[in-house]
Order: sequence, then C-alpha cells, then structure tokens
Amino acid sequence: MEAATEFVVESPDVVYSPEAIEAQYEYRTTCVSREGGVLKVHPTSTRFTFRTARQVPRLGVMLVGWGGNNGSTLTAAVLANRLRLSWPTRTGRKEANYYGSLTQAGTVSLGLDAEGQEVFVPFSSLLPMVAPDDLVFDGWDISSLNLAEAMRRAQVLDWGLQEQLWPHMEALRPRPSVYIPEFIAANQSARADNVIPGTRAQQLEQIRRDIRDFRSSARLDKVIVLWTANTERFCEVVPGLNDTAENLLHTIQLGLEVSPSTLFAVASILEGCAFLNGSPQNTLVPGALELAWQRRVFVGGDDFKSGQTKVKSVLVDFLIGSGLKTMSIVSYNHLGNNDGQNLSAPPQFRSKEVSKSSVVDDMVHSNPVLYSPGEEPNHCVVIKYVPYVGDSKRALDEYTSELMLGGTNTLVLHNTCEDSLLAAPIMLDLALLTELCQRVSFCTDIDPEPQSFHPVLSLLGFLFKAPLAPPGSPVVNALFRQRSCIENILRACVGLPPQNHMLLEHKME
Ligand code: NAD
Repeated sequence: MEAATEFVVESPDVVYSPEAIEAQYEYRTTCVSREGGVLKVHPTSTRFTFRTARQVPRLGVMLVGWGGNNGSTLTAAVLANRLRLSWPTRTGRKEANYYGSLTQAGTVSLGLDAEGQEVFVPFSSLLPMVAPDDLVFDGWDISSLNLAEAMRRAQVLDWGLQEQLWPHMEALRPRPSVYIPEFIAANQSARADNVIPGTRAQQLEQIRRDIRDFRSSARLDKVIVLWTANTERFCEVVPGLNDTAENLLHTIQLGLEVSPSTLFAVASILEGCAFLNGSPQNTLVPGALELAWQRRVFVGGDDFKSGQTKVKSVLVDFLIGSGLKTMSIVSYNHLGNNDGQNLSAPPQFRSKEVSKSSVVDDMVHSNPVLYSPGEEPNHCVVIKYVPYVGDSKRALDEYTSELMLGGTNTLVLHNTCEDSLLAAPIMLDLALLTELCQRVSFCTDIDPEPQSFHPVLSLLGFLFKAPLAPPGSPVVNALFRQRSCIENILRACVGLPPQNHMLLEHKME
C-alpha cells in the first residue's frame, strides 16, 4: 500500500490560504545565568508567526564541477528517476530511487492514531518542496567532457543504466570554468581544457552571465549554485584582501589572490543565487560572508557530510552521550577516484583533514563530567589514493574509549561504499531545503517585522561536515541533533510541536 503523503493540520493556529501556510508557534526554551556559583535557569517563551509560500518554483541547479563523479552521478540520478528507468544487474533488476536523501527517503512521525500507533509521512510532505524530478541542471567544469562521457569516466553506475542514460546526458556540456592551478593538485592539470580566459574581474562577469543565461534560457524562477568541484587548498584570510565584502570585490578587480570557489560564491551572491560549498576549503571567507549578509542571499557549507564523518558524528555522540570517555579516534580512508587523486597532494589533504577533524568538538565540549577544560581525544585522519578501488571508498575507523574502573573499549569499523552515490542525495537535499528556506519568513511578538533565516543557513548542518553557523552561534555536529533541528523547524512552519519522543500516552496506567 502506498503511504499517504498529504496531511492538514486542523488548529486555530494554522491557516492555509492558496498562497501560503501561516502558523502561530510558541517557541519555548530556557535562558541560563550564573549567579554566585549557582546556575539559574529561566524558561522563556516567544510567539512566532511562520509563513511559508506554497507556490513551488521552477528550480535550476548549477554545479561547479558538473563533470565530476558527484556532478555526473546526481544528474544521472535525477534523469533515471524522471524517466522511471530500471536495468538488469547480476543480482536482479534495479529501479531508480532516491535512497540516501533525507527529504525523499526519510520520514517524520505526525503523531499517534486512535490505536496509539505512530503515523509516519515522507519528510518531503511536511511542506511544499520542489520535486527532484523537476530540477533542471547546468554547470561548469574545467574538463570539457559531456555528461555522458563524464558518467563513463566516473565508473559509478551499472553499465545497463549508463546505456539508457547516454542519449539524455550526451547533449549536456559543462560551461568553461575558472582554473587557477595553484588551488588544486598539480595532478589535475591534464583535465583543464575548458577554461574561462581573462582577468579575475572578467571571469567573475562571465560566471554572472552564465547564471543569467541559464535562468532565462531554461525559463527558471530560481537558480542555486553548488560547489562540487575539487577540493582547493585553504586561502589565507588577510586583512585588506578578503576580510570585508568591499575588500574582496576590490581584490577581484585588481586580480589579487582569490580562489576559484570564492569567485563562484561572489558571482552567485551578486546574482542573488544561494551558494553552497560541498568541499572543505574556506571558500566563504569573511568578505564573502559579509557580501551574503549585505545582499540577504543564503550561503551554506562546508564539505558534504556523507560517509565516515556521518558515522563519526553518530558514534561519538552515542559514546559520549552514554557517559564513555572517547580518547582516541583514528580514521583511515583509501579511495581511487579523481577526488582521491586530488587529495593526495598535501595542501588539498590539509583542507580535508581540518574539516574531518572538527566533527567531534561539540560532543566533547558538551560533557565537562568526562573532559576537563582543554582536554580532547587524539584524532588522526589519513587519506590514501589507491586507483584500483575507484569510487568505492574504504573507510577504516578505530574508536577507543575509557570505561569505568580503568577499562577500555575499542570499536573498529570498516565501511565500503560508492562515494558519489552517498554524496548525490545530499546534494539534492541541499538544493531542495535551501529553496524551501527561501520561501519561509517569520516574525515574533517582540519583532513584528517579517524576516528570513540568517543568510548563513545553519539549518543545513545535517548535510555538512564542518557546518557554517552565524557568528556567535554554537556549531552542532551531532547528527541527530542536526536532524531534529531541520525536522522541528519544518514542523514549526505547520504549527506542530517539536518532536519530543516522550510517548507519555503510553506511560500512564
Ligand atoms: P571529482 O574529481 O570527480 O569531480 C570534481 C570535478 O571538478 C572534476 O570534474 C574537475 O574537472 C572539476 N573541477 C576542478 N576544479 C574546477 C573549477 N575550478 N571549476 C570547475 N570545475 C572544476 O570529485 P567528486 O568525487 O565529484 O567530489 C567533488 C568534491 O566533493 C570534492 O572536493 C570532494 O572532496 C567533495 N566531497 C565528496 C564527497 C563524496 O562522498 N563523494 C563527500 C564530501 C565532499
């Protein structure tokens, strides 16, 4: 039986009109103060009015690095679903689906029915969202291969699927891109046959023209730009160079140091398009963040949270949350795709190492019973390039935790999977959730002026390894806290209380 997907909230606090869903919502939280060695906790309550526009736009997604493993796999996945493709494999016929996508394959509980059983609906039915099959793709790559050839180069999909997709992907060609050799590994130079010539200012203008061209030629209401190109080395944040929006724009005009990814971020923001960074480098330097703030354009990053880090942000949360003192985390990876080759160069590996290492910080800091100030587990990350395994990435992790009375517990994990098949649904969720957030506005009883979410869209944290958050905001890495954040904010938009899992109905006589 097909699961029911439509629901209506029947409450005086929720009003459905043809244009919008408007919900009155009581946000209950607590405020803590320290007084004479005692923590005083004050419950507080703020009344929010959330408004979500119901009209779903025609959405275009521009991928930087479109011809890469992730870019070609995501494009193939959407086409395969749209065309309802199925193909034979040695273990039977497979059908296109969106497994791995929170919005398309995850569910939320609406509550209990008359029999006391939970009723689940797909995550995507919480609020009107763009259907992934309706997405329109375009993008840039420094490699000129068309998307069919890129799919073959990626070696991710079964041949029977590739054959069916070939005629649909062949006509898709990445636009030329900005290639600045010192930002990615030297081993990538042979790919760079599709580049935008000229000064940095001219390149910026070309990217902006590309966005406008895509928007008008594909008759789109909105465009979102997503960086899924190679990992770059970190860019030094230098006062006068990239520390403010004005300095960053000036730097581009003068042709001083700016990374390709930052150029794309600036172009997107200037075109009013959300920009999301799927790689670990610090694309969103302070000047780019300030520009996003000035223009009220969403930005999100950094680095897709797909495999090993996702497990880490669950496992360490579980260990520390259970009161075990994790003292050593050692992660080895080997992979044989082009991403792995690029990461075999030290400066690019360094970017990845930093984003992978910060992932347990919030969990450690949440437990002063186990960790004294400044104390942290040893955390080591190793990545090796092994061409033979291709996109089938291997991750080996060892976690050692202290038990009571001097005992230790060592957990060892071995994870094998197609890297791009993990990343593609995350890219999809990023685009769909960002677009949804663009249609949400709210006001409070304290500030009746309608506003949007902060331009640094931290709600996307579930999908990023090193989540960007607005200045002063706590960074959350623990996966289920991140998932609850998205779920509860979307529930608030339809006037539903936060999911509390108390099931008190079943705990009474
Ligand atoms: P890939 O090497 O297959 O694809 C990257 C593409 O970017 C290539 O086609 C390359 O030609 C292109 N490129 C490089 N510089 C460019 C530029 N300046 N402009 C336009 N195109 C450019 O790599 P992938 O496996 O698709 O991964 C892409 C990125 O996503 C990497 O940075 C990777 O670290 C990151 N990432 C991947 C995963 C995953 O699970 N696959 C998880 C987290 C992060």
